[in-house]
Amino acid sequence: MIAQINHSKLILQENADVQYTFDKTGRLTNIRHGHRYIARGFDGSMVAHTWHRGHHQTDPLSDEETRTLISRSRETLQKAQARHDLFLSDPLSTDDVLPWFERALSFQPEKDRLTFHEVYRPVGILPPDQYAAVVLQVSESCAWNRCSFCSFYKGKPFHLKTFEQFARHVQDVRNFIGEEISARNSIFLGEANAMAAPVDLLIREMDHAADRLVPSMADFRGFYSFLEPGQTPEISGTDWRRLRDAGLRRIYLGLETGCGELRETLGKTGSVEDVLRAARAAKEAGISVGMILILGVGGQSYFDRHMNDSILSLHSVPLDGSDMVFLSPLCVDSQSPYSSLADGWGGCDDRDMEKQHSLFQAALPPGVRAVTYNVRHFSYA
Ligand code: SF4
Repeated sequence: MIAQINHSKLILQENADVQYTFDKTGRLTNIRHGHRYIARGFDGSMVAHTWHRGHHQTDPLSDEETRTLISRSRETLQKAQARHDLFLSDPLSTDDVLPWFERALSFQPEKDRLTFHEVYRPVGILPPDQYAAVVLQVSESCAWNRCSFCSFYKGKPFHLKTFEQFARHVQDVRNFIGEEISARNSIFLGEANAMAAPVDLLIREMDHAADRLVPSMADFRGFYSFLEPGQTPEISGTDWRRLRDAGLRRIYLGLETGCGELRETLGKTGSVEDVLRAARAAKEAGISVGMILILGVGGQSYFDRHMNDSILSLHSVPLDGSDMVFLSPLCVDSQSPYSSLADGWGGCDDRDMEKQHSLFQAALPPGVRAVTYNVRHFSYA
């Protein structure tokens, strides 16, 4: 068995096929099991990721398999602690790894899972470049919650926290994440639209979070947030600059499509122009943007208009190398309002979505990164 520390994680490689990874708090975070990469969320759930001929598949594990893997990881830790055939990769010494083994063995997954649900309500979704952020829920759920394709916050009432509630939440998050906080380098202001909070309150909360958390975070890069323009009061140029000075580095905008008719049919809040205006205003203040588009939305009926209008929309914002475009394959179940709405549109299959992905990628302004945004089976970890 080989123990190594990589990116502030302890990795125990049991054999060529099986490898366990633990964070600084001692939480099991992922397992490599043959060709499967199994990620464990803070909520205790496990999802297996597999790749076949470029196709990425995600499958949630059953409770039974999750329990089995947790107990196997503990057996492996016990063997490592007893130093059975343990090889420490250079330059590790036993002083480095033994306290880590102890933390991982005293870690209580069930207690941790329950604490997670007390601290968060839970975490619906994050942009892919923020999966490892510290999430602070300025608000919970989505004030709109009516988009036909979105089920992240269904049945969860919207709540904007007071400063006092937020300050308690920051402390709870700090206690929950524990030592692992030092390995994180950004703060994501949740949930669907933290930017709906009055700017003065938001800046006060950002200052408070910076004061309490940032000194423990190595290489802190800033604050990040979704923004839904239809649910956000107009932000003045001065306020955008105040937000930038408080550390806001990027906002993520659910454009979904540049086709106004389709966007309205989908039940989105705010117009295409509202989204583009918010993106331009943020850029003008020096805040970068993440524009989110849905691949395959509108099916065959809207295929060309979705492509053309979205590309025109992206080009109407002065995007540069600091910005990102997230391409998210449509992910809805047959019971969703989208499915009844789209009845008769002619669906897009994987190949259609890949085609849209390539066309969007080819049409992006120079330097702008396109990132695939897979929202299926998300779990904050
Ligand atoms: S506004 Fe955003 S989070 Fe809210 S329902 Fe629509 S897509 Fe979902």
